Amino acid sequence: MKHITVAGTGYVGLVTGVCLAEVGHHVSCVDNNQDKIDLLNSGKSPIFEPGLDELMVKNKKEGKLLFTTDYKKTYAQSDVIFIGVGTPENADGSANLNYVYTVAQQIAESVERDCLVVIKSTVPIGTNDKIEAFMKEHLINNVQIEVASNPEFLAQGTAVRDTLHASRIVIGVESENAKQILTSIYEPFKQPIVAMNRRSAEMVKYASNDFLALKISFVNDIANLCEKVGANIEDVTNGMSYDERIGNRFLNPGIGYGGSCFPKDTKALHWLAEEEGYILRTVKAAIDVNEKQKYALIKKARNDFPTFNEKKVAVLGLTFKPGTDDLREAPSIPNIRLLLNEGARIQAFDPVGIENYKKLFPDQIAYKHSIEEALEDADLCFIFTEWPEIKEMDLDLFKKQMKTPHIYDGRNCFSLCEIENKGINYHSIGRPSVV
Ligand code: NAD
Repeated sequence: MKHITVAGTGYVGLVTGVCLAEVGHHVSCVDNNQDKIDLLNSGKSPIFEPGLDELMVKNKKEGKLLFTTDYKKTYAQSDVIFIGVGTPENADGSANLNYVYTVAQQIAESVERDCLVVIKSTVPIGTNDKIEAFMKEHLINNVQIEVASNPEFLAQGTAVRDTLHASRIVIGVESENAKQILTSIYEPFKQPIVAMNRRSAEMVKYASNDFLALKISFVNDIANLCEKVGANIEDVTNGMSYDERIGNRFLNPGIGYGGSCFPKDTKALHWLAEEEGYILRTVKAAIDVNEKQKYALIKKARNDFPTFNEKKVAVLGLTFKPGTDDLREAPSIPNIRLLLNEGARIQAFDPVGIENYKKLFPDQIAYKHSIEEALEDADLCFIFTEWPEIKEMDLDLFKKQMKTPHIYDGRNCFSLCEIENKGINYHSIGRPSVV
């Protein structure tokens, strides 16, 4: 049996490690953050991801999962090492590969047997080639090392399900040996394995994410136009979705995409294209539309509230999407910053995001543990995340709890029929306002 290691226990690394163990592998998970490893060893996950804790505890108990900061010893004994560390955005939009290179160096200086290094992190096209050359240069022991690409397609909030029942597993390989090793590791998942060369695999990841981002920005663009011409985006997307070439998924308008992937992956590919002397106009359009869309709600609220100074503002939903505690690039953040700068008094509710939000805004926001409390005596309310508890809330609460029930819903949580006759002033995205 191969000794498998995963470097990085974030959203991708931890879910990968746990799911590889779940299908029967023995997996060591390495992170350089001692607090994370201590938490994991105490049976708790440092991230919120539905279904993850149970699987983690189960596989740890069964002796198939190990968490450590001791990379040297762990890499020395590994046959296969998956790299799942972050590749955040540099100031110029390019991908920051420092974490990947650090791990590559640590591996090169530690491995004591032939090893396949599998890059799961999202990296620019050509990075796998460069990392392989870099590691070969830095190898200390006389061993064979090879790099393969295996981009990750999980979505936060459904990461465990997405991994155990992935639509496909893309592997980018340059040798039969690498292909055979990865195929046998993934065989128990019983999912389609799509093999290609490393550069194509790296591109599949960017092209997929950028296409999804483009889909969101396209719908948002059309939604904004719907408002101007008196159409309803919900009816429009419904009408579009009957065409099988379009489908019915990912057609929800809102205040733009956030998270740790779409914003940075669109910018990174656009940057990379420019380096090659090519302008990716469609991706640039997705980025530009999204940048503006973040403020679509505030713009609407301005019509009713020329200033937010001293206004009591209820905020429902803080995370970039439901099902996660991740706040990276959450549209709520620039909006809340703007409101605070103008002197608004914010009272916010989110079912899981509050602890992380406190790290960004420790004292400036009154955090509430229920929707009811967040709405109390508020002049207006913004909805930034479509959590189920918000979508299913008692709509009478708006009128009952708020001073003046002005609602700006950035995720179209409620149908217009439900809203009518509730005595509230309701604005959403791409649909007529109810006043
Ligand atoms: P993350 O920030 O949640 O996790 C990264 C982890 O790596 C952290 O726990 C960090 O402590 C650890 N780390 C950093 N340096 C290390 C080192 N030298 N050794 C060991 N561990 C180290 O990141 P993430 O969201 O899991 O994303 C990881 C990669 O996967 C990125 O390239 C991202 O673009 C890609 N990706 C992310 C998602 C997603 O939904 N989050 C989906 C698909 C792909």
